[in-house]
Amino acid sequence: MSRTFDIGIDDLKAVRTHAGTESASAAGTPNGKSFFIETFGCQMNSHDAEKVAGVFLSRGYRPAQSIAEADVLLYNTCSIREKAAQKVFSRLGAWRGMADGKIIGVIGCLAQQEGEEIFERAPWVSLVCGSASYRKLPELIAELESGGRRVTGLDLDTDETFETEITRRDNPLRAYITIIEGCNYACSYCVVPHTRGPERSRSSDAVLAEAKRLAGAGYTEIQLLGQTVNSYSDPSPRNLAFANLLREVAAIDGIRRVRFTTSHPNDFSREIVEAIDATPVLCDHIHLPVQSGSTRILKAMRRTYTREQYLEKMSWIRAARRPISVTTDVIVGFPGETESDFEQTLALLEEVGYDGVFSFTYSPRPNTDAKSMPDAIPEEEKARRLAVLQDGQRAIQLARNAKLVGSQFEVMVDTHHAARSQWAGRTTQNLIVNFSSPHPSLLGEYVQARITRAAPYSLVGEDVG
Ligand code: SF4
Repeated sequence: MSRTFDIGIDDLKAVRTHAGTESASAAGTPNGKSFFIETFGCQMNSHDAEKVAGVFLSRGYRPAQSIAEADVLLYNTCSIREKAAQKVFSRLGAWRGMADGKIIGVIGCLAQQEGEEIFERAPWVSLVCGSASYRKLPELIAELESGGRRVTGLDLDTDETFETEITRRDNPLRAYITIIEGCNYACSYCVVPHTRGPERSRSSDAVLAEAKRLAGAGYTEIQLLGQTVNSYSDPSPRNLAFANLLREVAAIDGIRRVRFTTSHPNDFSREIVEAIDATPVLCDHIHLPVQSGSTRILKAMRRTYTREQYLEKMSWIRAARRPISVTTDVIVGFPGETESDFEQTLALLEEVGYDGVFSFTYSPRPNTDAKSMPDAIPEEEKARRLAVLQDGQRAIQLARNAKLVGSQFEVMVDTHHAARSQWAGRTTQNLIVNFSSPHPSLLGEYVQARITRAAPYSLVGEDVG
């Protein structure tokens, strides 16, 4: 059984000296080589990069300060982005001139999607590895080190998770733990099941052990990650339910905040709300992507719930003893979306009163069923609907935030705007608060702030201790 170590970067050493100490004992014997990872995409992708970095550190590589200096150069790709393949090949083209003497690799969703085609179009690439095969990285790297020319990890059919001996933590204040990889849903617009493979959960023991190490290293906030985090299914004999896993992570000494993302409405249970209600360490925030307010469109998207079922789950959240903020994702302009469907989405936003909405226009992705659906919505119409939705949501957020003026919140400080002499941080509800303070150093501290002004996307406050 391997041990896992958590390593912070220089920032982390400055803020949490204990975590910095761990790196010295955890990293492998130096081999004189360095690596650089350029990452795009979601939080899962960023955290994957932290674990991939850990694989290199455990083999004695050191982080390079720049692309030019690196012996191994990895491009951690995302296929959610529009024209993703085009962008990746263009970036690889820019790296061609420096390929001599370097190992260049492509990892992540686009690596899985394009596979060996990448070698054809960019012959200077030596490694292509999708996220479902990251557990094989040590052997793939060993093959390259012993002179291998082209190595691939493109296996999707797996029930294993990516366990690393070392994770390099790039965020000094908030630590991420992947608890479930892949996805068993089949939303008609989404590439994830094709790029990250089927759902695999880590054992609750492994998750809890990682959380305890992070608490020991000085982290106070943990975020549990998964494409469908609440579909978590403990493979160990304990068979710990997701809501109970939340409670157990929250009970670890030193942990002051626990977040989780992203929840799938279909697997969202009352037990999750009850766990939040009973456990103040579980943050008062749930990200629950709805995607559309029209049951007809939800069916075409294959989201597996209706508008009414979604709203029923919202009613559980609204009935909680503590106010829980809710954010969501919305896609506008899905094929066949009529004006009436769109109006149902607008009405749903009004009815729910979200604290934040990540909204996008639909755009087709390779290997998805929605790509060949009829009745595509013209781009100008999609853009119009997006603007209408965003304007409406802006007003909803401004009205919600205005009600908070005069209230006091605990803020975990995560940003210093030196030019403005301001600090910023988040409340348990994940609301951003900007404030001034005479204190010279507040990063990582929990302070009480009274809200003095509201804006649609953030609050302004004053430090009251
Ligand atoms: S639940 Fe749907 S949108 Fe989310 S990752 Fe799975 S297939 Fe994609």
